[in-house]
Amino acid sequence: MKIAVFIKQVPDSAAKIAVENGVVKWGDAPLVINPWDEYAVEAALQLAEKHGGEVTAFSMGGDSSKEALKHALAMGCGNAVLINDAALAAVDAAGSARVFAAAVKKLGDADLAVFGKQAIDSDTGLVTAMTARVLGWPALTLVALVAELDASAKTIRVERGVEEGRQVVDSKLPAVLSIIKDFGEPRYPSFMGIRKASKAEIGTWTLDDLGISAPDAKVSWPELISPPKRDVTTEMITGSSPEEIANTLADKIITEGVL
Ligand SMILES: Cc1cc2nc3c(=O)[nH]c(=O)nc-3n(C[C@H](O)[C@H](O)[C@H](O)COP(=O)(O)OP(=O)(O)OC[C@H]3O[C@@H](n4cnc5c(N)ncnc54)[C@H](O)[C@@H]3O)c2cc1C
Repeated sequence: MKIAVFIKQVPDSAAKIAVENGVVKWGDAPLVINPWDEYAVEAALQLAEKHGGEVTAFSMGGDSSKEALKHALAMGCGNAVLINDAALAAVDAAGSARVFAAAVKKLGDADLAVFGKQAIDSDTGLVTAMTARVLGWPALTLVALVAELDASAKTIRVERGVEEGRQVVDSKLPAVLSIIKDFGEPRYPSFMGIRKASKAEIGTWTLDDLGISAPDAKVSWPELISPPKRDVTTEMITGSSPEEIANTLADKIITEGVL
C-alpha cells in the first residue's frame, strides 16, 4: 500500500497568539506538528504495518516545516516531502486542496491520503473534504477505527466518531481519511527514529514539480485582529456554610440575569 499523510506546522497550542499590525505573532513559542496530525501519522503507520506498504509525509509551508516532517520521519514514516512555493503565501483552503491533490497524484498509485481532524491555527476543517473532491475520491472523515481493509479488493470499512456514537461506513479505495483521537495515542519517536530523521534529506516540491499553476485564492483574509480585551472582575463569595455560599451564588447569578 502507498499512504500519503498531510501534516501542518503550527504554533504550539500553549502559545500566546497576538495580532500586531495585521500579522499573527506567537512570541518565542515553538512551532510544532499540528497535534491532530500526530494522530493521522499514527493511523497511517498502523495501517502500513498491518497491511504492508510505506507512508510518505507531506507538509506545505516554509523551510521551518521540515522540523514537523522530521518528527513524522522519527515516528516511522518512510519518506517526507516539503511543498514550498512563494505563490502559496496566501493560499486558501480550496487552493491548499488542489496542491495536496496534485501531491497525491505525483506520488502515484496511492491507496490512502490521511489528514488530521483540523489545523489548530487557521482551523477551517475544510481541506480534507476539498482534497477528496479534487481527487474524485470518497472522503471518510472523523475516522476512529479502520475495521477492515482489503488492499487488493480495494475496499475499506471504517467507524466514524459522530455525536450519536459510531457510524460504520464501507467504501472503495483509494480514499481520503481524516483521523480523530479515538484511533489511538500517537507513538513517541524512538531514539533510532530521531537519529534517522536528523540525517534525512527532505526534498522540496514547487508548483512546477506538482505540474499545477498557482491557485487563485477565492477567500481572502483582508484583516486579522485580536478579539477586544474583556474587562473581567473576580468576586470571591464567602459564607459560613457551603449551602449559604451556594445560595449567595445563585442569587447573584439570577440578579445578573445569567439564568
Ligand atoms: C499567514 C496565513 C495567511 C492566510 N491567508 C489566507 C487567506 O487570505 N484566505 C484564506 O482562505 N486562508 C488563508 N489562510 C489559511 C490557509 O488557507 C489555511 O491555513 C490552509 O488552507 C489550510 O487550511 P486549515 O489550516 O484550515 O486546514 P484544516 O482544513 O483545518 O486542516 C485539515 C488537515 O489538513 C492538513 N493540512 C492543513 N494545512 C496543511 C499544510 N500546510 N501542510 C500539510 N497538511 C496540511 C492537515 O492534515 C490538517 O489536519 C492563511 C493562513 C496563513 C497561515
